[in-house]
Amino acid sequence: MSVSRVGVVGAGTMGRGIAQVAALGGYETVLYDVSVELAEAGAAGLREALDKGAERGRWSVDQAAAAAGRVETAAEPEGLAGCGLVVEAAPEKLELKRRIFTGLAEALGPEPVFASNTSSLRVSEIAEGVPQPERVVGMHFFNPPALMKLVEVVAAERSSEAALAAATEVAERMGRTPIRAKDSPGFVANRLARPFTLESLRILGDGVADAPTIDRIVRLGGGFRMGPFELLDLIGLDVNLEIAHSFFAQGGEPERWRPSPIQERLVAEGRLGRKSGRGYHEYGEGAAREPDPELNVQAPTLDPAQLTQIDPAAEEVLTRLFAQIANEAAFALEEEVASPADMDTAMKLGFNWPLGPIGIAKLIGPDRAADLLEQLQAEKGAAYEPAPGLRRIISSST
Ligand code: NAD
Repeated sequence: MSVSRVGVVGAGTMGRGIAQVAALGGYETVLYDVSVELAEAGAAGLREALDKGAERGRWSVDQAAAAAGRVETAAEPEGLAGCGLVVEAAPEKLELKRRIFTGLAEALGPEPVFASNTSSLRVSEIAEGVPQPERVVGMHFFNPPALMKLVEVVAAERSSEAALAAATEVAERMGRTPIRAKDSPGFVANRLARPFTLESLRILGDGVADAPTIDRIVRLGGGFRMGPFELLDLIGLDVNLEIAHSFFAQGGEPERWRPSPIQERLVAEGRLGRKSGRGYHEYGEGAAREPDPELNVQAPTLDPAQLTQIDPAAEEVLTRLFAQIANEAAFALEEEVASPADMDTAMKLGFNWPLGPIGIAKLIGPDRAADLLEQLQAEKGAAYEPAPGLRRIISSST
């Protein structure tokens, strides 16, 4: 199945970025929206982004012009005729996405592969009722699609190998790095990122250190670009809390995914992060300056000599965080969510982690992580229950 023409449904934030990388990858690209005006507005934004990229030296002026020349717009499904693959980036509503694919199937016939860019819906549910549901897959891009290399190719229950292979090949030609993901809550990167904020919030709740100190430890000792509370402030506490509730419900309410009571309280008080001027940090006039990025250079370490120089609580903070990161990866491996190598790729490319979760598990050592979790489970409860396969995580990943 060779694709030469790619359709993108929904010309919003994600759709125009996906169409941009498709056109840069050499595909004839059709950007579709519900009206000519919306489709044209998306294409205008795309052309502007191509010009800016050329100014910044990301690609040449000629490449930008050639890519722009490959983009068409459409406001009728028939405009997508000839597309071997259509990526849907419409609003996050199950019924809408189903309706879009069913309509496209009617207009385009049985051939094209349909890929949904959903972040939180089950691709298998979107595929239900769509003619030839085996052609429906997930293609989960990250924002902004033109800069973020990761694409999670999601295998729904009925997805065919041919459809998955076509999506993978298109992602590669778009200059992205595809990984294979199971159709499960949050797929790979968003799911494996759960403990980064949730365990940090529990560490905060236990009074191990305050939020700015935990951020500093995670940056300097953990080698992460941003601390968990800086990240929460940037995302918005309310946005993150909604995601936390969605994971908790979709995962069958596992204790380790229980939304944080601290975050519930701050959201109720209107402390939403940067956008409200205050979250875990203060923003606006006279507030503390941004952390010095020069400091964010250390590789992750658990060397006690180095960690005590950062903060007396650094070892406790990082061992707890790393143990839970390793644990989530072990649960995900058990559920066959992705291969170990794809898990590491997902976190490095999707969230700029300095090491993937398998790398972090190797750093702490699965036995040390499991021992710590068992001790914390005895003290604090089921949020620390070790995954059955945690102690085997390294042997299964080599
Ligand atoms: P958006 O609101 O910016 O864009 C959605 C576009 O879809 C709009 O242009 C809208 O006019 C169009 N649309 C609405 N109904 C349509 C229909 N029936 N047919 C065709 N087009 C229609 O949304 P977005 O942020 O680009 O998100 C799109 C999808 O991508 C969602 O499923 C979202 O969960 C997912 N996603 C978003 C992000 C992100 O960070 N924004 C990241 C990954 C995945």
